[in-house]
Amino acid sequence: MSFDSLGLDAKILQAIHEQNYTEPTPIQQQAIPVILSGKDLMASAQTGTGKTAGFGLPILQKLHEMQLKTVTKAEPRKGKRRLYALILAPTRELAAQIGENIRDYSRYLAIRSLVVFGGVSINPQMMKLRGGVDILIATPGRLLDLVHQNAVDLSSVKVLVLDEADRMLDMGFIHDIRRVIAKLPKKRQNLMFSATFSDDIKALAQTILKSPESVAVAKTNSASEQITQYVHRVDKRRKRELLSYLIGKNQWQQVLIFTRTKYGANHLAEQLTKDGIKASAIHGNKSQGARTKALADFKNGQIRALVATDIAARGLDIELLPYVVNYELPQVAEDYVHRIGRTGRAQNQGQAISLVCIDELAQLKSIEKLIKKPIPEIFTQGFEVDPRIKAEPVKKATAKGAPAKRRRVDKTRTPKNNQNSMKQSSHHTYSKTN
Ligand code: AMP
Repeated sequence: MSFDSLGLDAKILQAIHEQNYTEPTPIQQQAIPVILSGKDLMASAQTGTGKTAGFGLPILQKLHEMQLKTVTKAEPRKGKRRLYALILAPTRELAAQIGENIRDYSRYLAIRSLVVFGGVSINPQMMKLRGGVDILIATPGRLLDLVHQNAVDLSSVKVLVLDEADRMLDMGFIHDIRRVIAKLPKKRQNLMFSATFSDDIKALAQTILKSPESVAVAKTNSASEQITQYVHRVDKRRKRELLSYLIGKNQWQQVLIFTRTKYGANHLAEQLTKDGIKASAIHGNKSQGARTKALADFKNGQIRALVATDIAARGLDIELLPYVVNYELPQVAEDYVHRIGRTGRAQNQGQAISLVCIDELAQLKSIEKLIKKPIPEIFTQGFEVDPRIKAEPVKKATAKGAPAKRRRVDKTRTPKNNQNSMKQSSHHTYSKTN
């Protein structure tokens, strides 16, 4: 795919060409058409994926088209520029970087952009705003200061971008963001970018975005060829047994395992340890010291299995991590892409295996829809799914994060059966995994 096919103006293409971009990155391929169509967007993409051009280029295109319609040679622009796009970023570094990119891409357009952030004198920013800008890139706190000083009018904004939304929440900007949004016109296009999708981010997205399209890419690849993905269907009650078996039989020495809850992470780490696999859990309830130690032990090979929740795994950079296991599928499909993106980095091969029970088939479907391809299934003899087990309604977590007690008792298996299968698997009687 080339940039030419995206419907961008020749002046924008020229600027991109001068940046030596030869083809759009995956996030650009997915986000640019959505943004040009005027829809809201929820994009799962980290810095490094080319996301800035992903929202910057279509914003410039739309703004340029609007200018062509309203400003003709015979009738040049009247009055001062009215703010068209507001881009909010968590840090001054990011704001500055976005501003630089927007300036590069708009080099041949009659578009004025400005970057404002705190920690520096507000007066020069107020002076620059006086002349009017088309695109404002801002950190939330400083933007509010400027609004309170009547230095910026947000009533004309047509496009709002929240970049690194997860970081903005982490940094406590939620109230500032809401105050800014309250000052924007109701009718506008909203674009949200986030590396991860926690419950807080989902809640924020729900209040800001209207029927958004969602797109997702992992850092180095979009569900890349470097990562071999598999689904292993298995009954919920036999997941741990299967996991221990797979680790043992395949001699995985370093495997990152995702669970949905902190409770689940602790519990699984304990069980794996009982199975003779050195394991540790990292999650938000553990102290920073404990997390750092667990990670160090994992990296230097003292721990074979690191069990993590989505949030805890954020920012984990483990070089050459060969295996990722989704012990439970994430509730939000985008998180799957981020999870598997922990392996297969920097040209290395990686394998991501999802253990999927009957209750998770809907989640699997939405993941396959997101990555736009089916994930191949593998089987292990002796771990076939029991067709008598039916899907259960999603269980509510208790206050402590522990799953609520099972209401339905599965009488199809006797304890003896279970013991047998444990014994067999621990002796590796079953040998076929793929
Ligand atoms: P970002 O994720 O927006 O911070 O971009 C990461 C880096 O990729 C920046 O240095 C961009 O200049 C660069 N970049 C963005 N789009 C492309 C592209 N299509 N081809 C090559 N480099 C790109």
